[in-house]
Amino acid sequence: MKEKIITKKILKWYDINKRSLPWRKKVTSQKKQYYTLVSEFMLQQTQVATVIPFFNRFIKNLPSLIELANVEEKKLIKFWEGLGYYSRAINLKRTAMLIIKDFNGKIPKNYDELKSLPGIGNYTASAIMAIAFNEPFIPLDGNIERVLKRYLYLKKDREIQKDNLILKKSIFGTSLRSNDYAQALMELGALICKPKNPLCNQCPISINCKSYKKKDFNLSKRVKKNKKKYFILKVYKKNQSYLLIKNTKFNFLKNLRIFPMKELHKPKNFNENLNFKMSNMNMNIKIQYLKNNQKFPLSYWIDKKKLDNYTLPSFTKKVFKYLEKI
Ligand code: SF4
Repeated sequence: MKEKIITKKILKWYDINKRSLPWRKKVTSQKKQYYTLVSEFMLQQTQVATVIPFFNRFIKNLPSLIELANVEEKKLIKFWEGLGYYSRAINLKRTAMLIIKDFNGKIPKNYDELKSLPGIGNYTASAIMAIAFNEPFIPLDGNIERVLKRYLYLKKDREIQKDNLILKKSIFGTSLRSNDYAQALMELGALICKPKNPLCNQCPISINCKSYKKKDFNLSKRVKKNKKKYFILKVYKKNQSYLLIKNTKFNFLKNLRIFPMKELHKPKNFNENLNFKMSNMNMNIKIQYLKNNQKFPLSYWIDKKKLDNYTLPSFTKKVFKYLEKI
């Protein structure tokens, strides 16, 4: 395979400038695959610098896929605590269990099989294929997208649609060092082609960069619309304690402790008490106080004075805060 000049330049830059990150350590290929799986789940919603201490703590407690698959959920959440978006941890454990059960304990080296696992979408499957298995994939994360948009000066709405970016990323070419190359492109976006004030004088590909030639580094964004959703949140109170349930109903905050809730579709005259933004949702919440005569299968009475004894999602904590104020 003949590498393009742009590929060579980016790899050369990476070899000199790459950050030393815990999941980039030289380890056995099995460990490398496990580290990639864990780090890619953590990096789905969180930046590299934030992830590092959490990754180290997680790997110290759960050093292998088998230990991850067998860990109690309570402990798992503790090891993940502070990183937020707990559904990632739950999906990561479910993925580990399925790998043990259906793939003989080996992370599948196949894009479609990876995508069949919980919490793994197009991006994470591409990242694992490239980084763990050295396959010629370029995962299009925010950093690579930015380099691509600037390098080709993609601004118009149709130019910055995901489908078009997927086509255009072929400009980067491929390398026999696919694992390094995927990370090199991400690193270039993170360290040099920064969202604000890109460091073009240190950039290995500035010579052919259209944004650099035009001296226009503004990025246009795809307009993302958050879906408005409406919920009734039920509050049952006994002395100092409130009733929480294990959420098996909604796709968000799956298996975590929340107040019992019911979704309403296009309600009229909805006066919300609380507003919460989560993933692509704008949640409007109306609080309803009820007497405890409804039975819930997985419920817990949580003393509001002992909240620190429990691992609760920030959503539930926010509701507690609200209830305390009124
Ligand atoms: S020259 Fe500047 S704008 Fe172009 S890719 Fe490099 S850092 Fe980004």
